[in-house]
Formats: sequence, structure tokens, C-alpha cells
Amino acid sequence: MAVRTGAQFLDSLRAMTDGREFWMDGEKIGDVTTDPRFAGAARTLAGLYDMQHDPDLSDVMTYVDEDTGERHPRSYQIPRSMEELQARSKMVKHWADATLGMFTRTPDYMNIYLAVSAGSAAEYGGYQNHDFGQNMRDLYQYMRANDYAMAHSLNHPQTDRSRPVEDQDQDLACKITKETDAGIYISGARTVTTLAAYIEEVSVFPSPHKPVSGEAGDYSFAVVIPVTTPGTKFLFRPPVVPGGGASPEDHPLASRFDETDAMMVFDNVFVPWERVYAYRDVEACNTLSARIGHSAHLYDQVSLRCIAKAEFMVGLALTICHSMQIEGFSHIANWLADMMSQLELLKAAHTAAVAGAGPNKYGVWQADAGPFTAMRRLFPDMIANMNDKVTQMAAGGLVTAPSTADFSSEIGDDVRLYMQSANADAETRVRLMRLAFDATMSGFAGRQLLYERFFGGDPVRNAHRQVNGYDKQPLMDKVAAFLMRSAADTDQTKKHAAE
Ligand SMILES: Cc1cc2nc3c(=O)[nH]c(=O)nc-3n(C[C@H](O)[C@H](O)[C@H](O)COP(=O)(O)OP(=O)(O)OC[C@H]3O[C@@H](n4cnc5c(N)ncnc54)[C@H](O)[C@@H]3O)c2cc1C
Repeated sequence: MAVRTGAQFLDSLRAMTDGREFWMDGEKIGDVTTDPRFAGAARTLAGLYDMQHDPDLSDVMTYVDEDTGERHPRSYQIPRSMEELQARSKMVKHWADATLGMFTRTPDYMNIYLAVSAGSAAEYGGYQNHDFGQNMRDLYQYMRANDYAMAHSLNHPQTDRSRPVEDQDQDLACKITKETDAGIYISGARTVTTLAAYIEEVSVFPSPHKPVSGEAGDYSFAVVIPVTTPGTKFLFRPPVVPGGGASPEDHPLASRFDETDAMMVFDNVFVPWERVYAYRDVEACNTLSARIGHSAHLYDQVSLRCIAKAEFMVGLALTICHSMQIEGFSHIANWLADMMSQLELLKAAHTAAVAGAGPNKYGVWQADAGPFTAMRRLFPDMIANMNDKVTQMAAGGLVTAPSTADFSSEIGDDVRLYMQSANADAETRVRLMRLAFDATMSGFAGRQLLYERFFGGDPVRNAHRQVNGYDKQPLMDKVAAFLMRSAADTDQTKKHAAE
């Protein structure tokens, strides 16, 4: 099953129903493929897996491993050339386009993470006789062979952010509690884990920015375990879809793309050594991602998703404007031009990042992370701005569009008459407005924006890292050179005046 179908993916989710502990709305969740709070996103993911079997897309979505002759999902390919890096981008964009950039954590994200981690596995080091690099290679082979999906959780609970995790009154963060010849035991909680309802394995890796101090070792580990591991619980937030599983026409995005987020709780969970990738090593945990170049790979995926989302938003704005003929007003043209310019800059940043790609010391090709860092910094405000402009274009239409059920009720004729606009019949316009509402104003839209701001870490602390890591001196040298030139010119001018 090296490349799975949607049906095989759904079968796998069903098979885990009894073995795993998912909680939402005060109850234990059963089959996520049929529970209306989860089923919409499960169907969407199944559709993405089916794309891997579309004969027209076969060479885009999958690749043949030259060593084994076997076909695998493209996102699991370790890129060893510019062509392979670009081929991966093409695959990512297909999934991003299929989900309008709104399924924020499609499985390719962590597949890419696994592939490049295995490609640079020597960076994982080891502990006593345990070779973490080999563990990572084995995990990659296992995940790729089954085309499994993985989610990850990096952060500790928000108990008291004024103190380091090892120095809290309440010791709630997940930590190592015991070590044996067979493995380790962990207990405590980890926060946001997106996609957790639709995966086979979950990665409990450290945030790379832990302050180094005496007791931090207990919290500095990396493991990957099956979601069915005894003692592991997933606490899901309520769905953003009103009523749990509302009509796809009235909530067209939320009903398809609410991938859910969960907190994970571990109660004396046993992890065999084969599934450990870092152990009591604060320094290794803090530097691992940078040494492997995870950001450059993950943001390759993220940036393409952001481009897909921005393309959708520009298309949505244009369609709304055309439907009621407002594109001729100069302020609307101004807003459209801003949105189009932002989209073009996003595309240019991705092109520039790939153009600057090169191999790391293990021959794994990665894009230039610089343009991706710029995108991470600017995209949240760009997309917030696009949302805002779409709401100002659609204005009252957003809050008067009724539910589509009204068309088949006794007020159907009124709705058909008064909801039409110059270039759209009432049914098209209502569906367009429901789509715009879901994209910009709904609970789904709120979660999307929060995701864009935070999924890559706290933007405030990221800003410090960006400023600290930036190559500042050449820019300051330019200013210093001008000041020197200017001072010399002034002296010269004074000298001439005195003569
Ligand atoms: C929708 C969504 C999905 C996500 N999915 C995932 C996922 O799948 N996997 C994953 O690992 N993570 C995920 N994240 C979590 C993300 O990594 C964190 O949100 C991010 O790292 C910030 O941590 P926090 O949410 O705990 O906020 P906190 O760190 O608690 O910050 C809260 C506020 O306090 C400020 N603050 C706190 N501490 C400091 C400090 N030391 N210095 C300055 N300011 C501080 C922050 O600026 C912020 O304004 C997701 C987040 C969101 C919102």
C-alpha cells in the first residue's frame, strides 16, 4: 500500500476507532469518518489521497524510488536535485489548490518533515547504545511504506509563561518520568496538535527554543508514537461548523476543511527506544531543526498553501465585485490592485526561494529560507487585509444572504427575486455570499487567521529571531559609507568656500 487511496485512508481511520481516545463536547468520540463533527474533513482528505491515483496526475503526486522501483507519494521524496525540489512544489500546489489553501495541515507537511529528517538523519545523534538517526530512517521507511499521516505537537500548556517550563508551581507539561532498558515513560500535556483526528502517528518533538537550564532535560526529548498508544488522550476543541455538521452549501469551507485542533494528554505512556529521536538533550533539541533545515522545507509547503489561499481570495473578491458591478469604483479598483500586488509578491517570494536552492551537507536540496521568513512575517497581515477588503466589498450582502434551504421553502420566490444581482441569479449570489462569509467572518475564518499568525510559533519571539539572524552589517555599512562620503563632501565644500 505504498500509495494509498481515499478508501484505504478512511479504512485506516475506522480501524483505529476502538484503540484511541478522542474527546469532544464532553463525550468520547467514536468513528471519525461518520461523526458529523469530523466526517467532512475526513472526506476532504480522502479526496486528496485519491488524487494520488488520478492517472493524469500520477507523475505529479507520486514518484518511483530508483533503488526499489516502488512508487510512493511525492511528498515522501527526499529531494536530491533542483528538479526533485520543484517536482515536490508542484505536488504540494495541487493539494493546496484542491483545498483553497484552507486545509492548513494537509499530510504532505509532515511527510516532507519526515523525508528531510531521514535525509539528514546523522544530525539526530544518539544516547548510550541507541542510534536516533537510524530510528529516524526506520520511521521514515515505515511511514512511507504505509503512506501514513502524522501530526505534531511542540508546545507546553499555557500554565505560566513568565517562568521556564521546569520552574512552574504546577508541573503540567509533558516530561520524561522514567527510563528502562526497553524505553522511556512520559506524562503530562502538550498543546495544539492540528490534524490529530486523521493520523496514524503523532510526533511529540520539542519546541526548538527552550531556555537551557538545570532541569530542562526532563522536557527535552523527541518521540513519535501511534495515536492508539495506551495512556494517550486527545482533547478536541468544539468544531467551528455550526451545529457540528452543517450543510456544505451554507458553510462551504468549514464543513469541508475544519481539520480540528487538540491538546494531548499522556498518562504514564511507554515509548520504546526505537521511537525516541532525542533524549534529555536541551542543546540538541534547540538546534536540531536549524541543523536539518526543517524551516526551509516546511515553509516551501506553507508558502504554496498561502499562495493558493491568496489566489482564492483575489478570485473571490473579483467574483463579488463583478456580481454587483462595483469594480468600476476607484476605491474598489484600489483594493483589488493591492490584493493582486500582494499575491504577485507571494509568488515572487516562492520563486526566489527556489531559485536560491542548494544541497545541504547530506545532499538534500532545500530552498533559500530568506524569502520564506519574509512571507511568514508578512502573510498574516496580508491575509487579514484581504479578508477585510472582501468584507467591505460584499458589505451587507454578507449578513443578508439566507441559508440555501430558503429556496425550497414557501419564501423561495421572494429569495429568488430579491437576492439576485446584476450578473448573478439569486442561487449563485447566495452561495457566493455564504462562501465569502465563511472565508472572512465565520468561526472557521477566525481560526484560519489565528492559525496564520501562530502556527509557525509566536510572531513576537520570531521577530527577535529574525532581527538577530539577519545579515545586518552590509546594510549598516552602506549608511556608514554614505555618512563618510557626505562628511568628506562637506569638508571639501567648506575648503572651496574658504579659498
Ligand atoms: C490554529 C493553530 C494551530 C496550531 N497547530 C499546531 C500544531 O499542529 N503543532 C504545534 O506544535 N503547534 C501548533 N500551533 C501552536 C503554535 O506553535 C503556538 O500557538 C505558538 O508557538 C505560540 O505558543 P502559544 O499558543 O502557547 O502562545 P504563548 O506562548 O502562550 O503566547 C501567548 C501570548 O503571550 C506572549 N508571550 C508568551 N511568552 C512570551 C515570551 N517569553 N516573550 C514574549 N512574549 C511572550 C505571546 O507573544 C502571545 O501574545 C498551532 C497554533 C494555532 C493557533
